[in-house]
Amino acid sequence: MQQGIFRKKICFLSSLACIILLVIYFFLSRQKINPVVIFIFISINILIVFSLLRFFSDKDSLLASRIENIKERINLVNVEIKKSRELGASLKFKITRYDNLKKFIEDLNRSLRLEVVVHVLASTVYNLISNMKGIALFYLLDNHTQKLNLIHSIKEDSQIVIRSKEGDIFDYWVLRHSRELIIEDLKNDFRFDLDTVRSQQMRPILSLISSPLISHHSLLGLLRLESDKKGSFDQDDLRFLSLVSGLGAVALENSLLFQKTQDLAIHDDLTGLFTKQYFIGRLREEAKRCLRLDQRLSLMMIDIDFFKQYNDKFGHTAGDIVLKKVSFLLKDSLNQLRPLLCRFGGEEFLVMLSGLDKQRSLEVAEDLRKRIQKETILLRRQNTSVTVSIGLACLPLDTKDEDELVQKADKAMYDAKRKGRNRVCYI
Ligand code: GH3
Ligand code: MG
Ligand code: MG
Repeated sequence: MQQGIFRKKICFLSSLACIILLVIYFFLSRQKINPVVIFIFISINILIVFSLLRFFSDKDSLLASRIENIKERINLVNVEIKKSRELGASLKFKITRYDNLKKFIEDLNRSLRLEVVVHVLASTVYNLISNMKGIALFYLLDNHTQKLNLIHSIKEDSQIVIRSKEGDIFDYWVLRHSRELIIEDLKNDFRFDLDTVRSQQMRPILSLISSPLISHHSLLGLLRLESDKKGSFDQDDLRFLSLVSGLGAVALENSLLFQKTQDLAIHDDLTGLFTKQYFIGRLREEAKRCLRLDQRLSLMMIDIDFFKQYNDKFGHTAGDIVLKKVSFLLKDSLNQLRPLLCRFGGEEFLVMLSGLDKQRSLEVAEDLRKRIQKETILLRRQNTSVTVSIGLACLPLDTKDEDELVQKADKAMYDAKRKGRNRVCYI
């Protein structure tokens, strides 16, 4: 607007200058104005105004195009700044990830317990890759059955139920190929049939990454992150998951070995039942808990009758088979009552049951005795069988002391022996 006024002023002044020049010429020449001169002046005037207008209009368009250019450049610079900022943020995110690796390794080395190792692995990738969104799953591979077992999950939405406890087509893909899997958008991934996925899962999955945990060439399990949005994971995420899985696999293997050693230490080799030492420890804890909560606890001492004769007649190996059979019958018959079972010594067993009164405990013991008596064991084409004598004691009815409880059950068992064996006795 101001430029327009300025231009008009210039044109007006230049026209005025021409007229003044004409008047000066008239006064100086003191004669009648020559029409030719007037015409020349007017033409010059028009020419000046016209060329001034043109000059300004050219300058305007030049300026406009320059402004356009500058605006374009500003836009480009803004885009670059935005890109750099994004790159900076993602680099910062990645640096934070790798910074956290130190803490991850410290956490991993803190304990050999399987549940700690599994939790550290799953929560690390869930926090650092998924940003605590979606779902993280941890599967262990059963070496005997070659089946996966879901042992740990972290979910953003606690309402979601993981139906595929033994893994789904994605997990078995990883298992089959023994390598990482990335799905950026399930709808466009032709390796997997959407209908099969939908039939296996009730929850929506659109993207996922999964990595096997391999140590010394054997696959121990797999770690998986999933999201109900597409494009939640990229190759960088997969690389980081693979790195964590690689480090975690070694810790996982150590922890599995540790657990195996611990299991061996508390289980009897022949029967698989708990050892006496472990059982007594658990009995002490459980007795304290029951006394505190005013609950009942029953203890059965079980001894095989005339087992020495059985060994003498059929041999020691046959005797071992009987011990295994009796152990199996204890587990199988009492399964519903969630018992704690122990091989107390040679052919003696201890059974701890919580929450049963004296009458119910006697019924359970009697049913057990009958089942063992009925069971036949085929040896050298001969049907054999054994009987047991059972002594029962209850807490807090008979005593509030767990050592005395064992003694009372033992005493009751010897009572059963004295009374002719193959019976249940209670003191
Ligand atoms: P009772 O009815 O009085 O209990 O007679 P019993 O013969 O069962 O009792 P005894 O204590 O005299 O014998 C226990 C036998 O258990 C002796 C031993 O040979 C046998 N035994 C102990 N441990 C094992 C084992 O691990 N395997 C086998 N096959 N036999 C065992
Ligand atoms: Mg005995
Ligand atoms: Mg015996």
